[in-house]
Amino acid sequence: MMESFEELNISRQLLNAIEDLGFVKPTPIQEEAFPVVMSGKNIVGIAQTGTGKTLGYMLPILQQFKFSKDYKPRVIILVPTRELVIQVVEQIELFTKYMSTRVLGVFGGVNIKTQMGALTQGVDIVVGTPGRLYDLAVNRSLLLQEVKKLVIDEVDVMLDLGFRFQLNNIFELLPPKRQNIMFSATMTEDVEILINENFIAPELIAISLSGTPLDNIAQSCYNVENFYTKVNLLIHLLKDKDTYQKVLVFIDSKRNADRLFEALEEDFWNCLGVIHSNKSQNNRMATIERFNDNATRILVATDVIARGIDLDDITHVINFDTPKFPENYMHRIGRTGRAEKQGQSILMYTENEEKWKESIEELMEYVIPSHPFPEEVKVSKQLTIDEQPRIIEKNPHRQTKHQAGPSFHEKKEKNTKTQNLGGGQKIKLKKAKKYKKPKTRGSKQMNMKKRK
Ligand code: AMP
Repeated sequence: MMESFEELNISRQLLNAIEDLGFVKPTPIQEEAFPVVMSGKNIVGIAQTGTGKTLGYMLPILQQFKFSKDYKPRVIILVPTRELVIQVVEQIELFTKYMSTRVLGVFGGVNIKTQMGALTQGVDIVVGTPGRLYDLAVNRSLLLQEVKKLVIDEVDVMLDLGFRFQLNNIFELLPPKRQNIMFSATMTEDVEILINENFIAPELIAISLSGTPLDNIAQSCYNVENFYTKVNLLIHLLKDKDTYQKVLVFIDSKRNADRLFEALEEDFWNCLGVIHSNKSQNNRMATIERFNDNATRILVATDVIARGIDLDDITHVINFDTPKFPENYMHRIGRTGRAEKQGQSILMYTENEEKWKESIEELMEYVIPSHPFPEEVKVSKQLTIDEQPRIIEKNPHRQTKHQAGPSFHEKKEKNTKTQNLGGGQKIKLKKAKKYKKPKTRGSKQMNMKKRK
């Protein structure tokens, strides 16, 4: 661990500005991100707000900044909300107190003409929400050809709010030769897809949360056959109202959250809530309020949405699925066992998810105690669409439209290059890719670099 910012060999101007802010030494994410951002490589940082990530990416960017008279920006920072635009601009202004860096924030909901005017004055760094930034680029008041660095902050929230399309549009307009710097509090499937589809071999930096499990959380797990058997088990557990007083059920996606909610509704309609980013702001607030007031005792939530909300006195965290990234598990279970109270966490894993359970255990250096599957719980044979085996067409020449796999999971043509093994084998390989989920997806493409 570094003891001072001087160890980073940064400029006097930056050191003075940091000193004025009263910061003594770099935070772990700042220390980790610095050399990687300096190297020019693509980077994905897994870090929550409050870890100092803004300075984490700004410090190396500003250290490399050279004075320019050009009016076109060289750095673009995309954030999901206008509040964050304002906050990030304010922070950059403080960091650049002794530099002559021009920073501008742009976001929707206000007059675009003012922002267009400000851009003609010349800027070095533009911080913006994707929609407005794209509009400004399209009307050519924001010229992107000099951009050398793109920062995307809170990628998980960005995708949860449905900015994927705007992000892709912006990528199209940016010069391909640039450094991409991304931060996300949680690694979700959507984040992984975005990264793998758009960025070459980013280095992954994750500041592991405490390696050992928290003492006041009792963890346990069940090996369960499939989604609907998990539902049966969950219903069985939740029927014990005295034990399961206030339960937060985590699940990976909005779609599965709705699916689970529907499955639980019959038994728990009067004490159940669900929250994810497709719900309106009012609906979300009402759901949280009911849960916090103990009007409901069960809340189904996705990782991203649960992160930003304050929930009181949760007795049980149930991991309905097993997070692929062990950090997400740590975040989830950290929602219980607060304020000196003992919390309980239960993990449900299928055979397919076992490998992820193992990496969680590796991170914690702790084997989660396992419960036998209760005999009285019915094993369901019903499979979700995701669980159903894909039918592989034997004859490569007979292909009908409806047999093609889900296009959502298909990679772009350039990413699904097949090896030419000669003759029919090439076709076979291609077919296999078409019908199965791509095997290469996932963190394999990233260099895992972890801090212990
Ligand atoms: P962020 O995660 O970027 O939102 O930063 C969280 C808060 O930590 C902000 O208020 C920063 O001003 C502050 N902060 C950032 N870096 C440091 C540091 N090295 N030492 C102390 N505070 C910091």
